[in-house]
Amino acid sequence: MQEYALQAKGLTKTYKAVGPTAAKQALKGIDLAVPRGSIFGLLGPNGAGKSTFINILAGMVVKSGGMAEIWGFDIDKNPRQARASIGIVPQELSIDPFFTPREIMDLQAGMYGVPKSQRRTLEILTAMGLDDKLDAYARTLSGGMRRRLLVAKALVHNPPVLVLDEPTAGVDIELRRQLWDYVLELNKAGVTIVLTTHYLEEAEKLCDTIAIIDQGELRACDSTQNLLAQIDNKTLLVRSASPLATAPSLNGLDAKLTDDGRLAVTYNPGLIPAGAVIAQLNEHGVEIADLDTRGAELENVFLKLTS
Ligand code: ADP
Ligand code: MG
Repeated sequence: MQEYALQAKGLTKTYKAVGPTAAKQALKGIDLAVPRGSIFGLLGPNGAGKSTFINILAGMVVKSGGMAEIWGFDIDKNPRQARASIGIVPQELSIDPFFTPREIMDLQAGMYGVPKSQRRTLEILTAMGLDDKLDAYARTLSGGMRRRLLVAKALVHNPPVLVLDEPTAGVDIELRRQLWDYVLELNKAGVTIVLTTHYLEEAEKLCDTIAIIDQGELRACDSTQNLLAQIDNKTLLVRSASPLATAPSLNGLDAKLTDDGRLAVTYNPGLIPAGAVIAQLNEHGVEIADLDTRGAELENVFLKLTS
């Protein structure tokens, strides 16, 4: 049996109604398995349920139904081992302003029962570029520094799984790169990385596996390569010199009229070159006045699956 870094089956969450706010079903039965050693992207628009999913694993939100395992430990049956196996960087920059990074790390290590001799406070803070802020009050740290301090904090107990919830929201490009360099290094050292983001480009570049959730449901989960291959097609947008009443039926190609009167022909450039598509259009008497193409991007899959 394959052991996963994370596994969820039929995971549901309904937030109870509070006052005038109606109850909200944030997760509607999520089945998800994150392979060990991967960099796994959890994508979805705002309100999709990403943080809810992660906060259930973190033990910060109580699930309504289903099961979840972290590194093979059921969060209900083995909560201590499950929690020891995961480090979570929350979306909110919640840091006690009156402690210093060194103190925050020590408190966290204490909470996880990491013996003093095994603590790597300085090593981790240095890796996160915070070695010159060891004894500065957290309230004096910039947003980017706080984010990195939260990453450092999540690593205190050396967990095999590191989860980052929207880690680059509000982080500038330079820091983002630095953060990713470090995350990639951790991954090379064997740490499974799970991140949520709505920066598709980032996910496309970093993640080997991607899950897309929307409105509490899983819409797709596959290797980044397969997801992109799935839409390894391009669309040729043609404006005909004389208006078309209907789309011509082309041989093995999907052709539709768009709202703005153009002809959209979808083709797979690996199977048929654009020239052959155009030749077919000519054969059908379509006189091309203007031409445009749209490529396959993760963004397209994303839009297709979440619109
Ligand atoms: P995401 O992280 O993908 O943006 P969330 O998991 O934060 O999504 O939210 C999913 C849905 O659950 C949203 O509709 C959100 O408003 C709702 N929600 C999140 N947290 C709470 C809460 N504590 N109480 C009630 N509703 C919540
Ligand atoms: Mg969120």
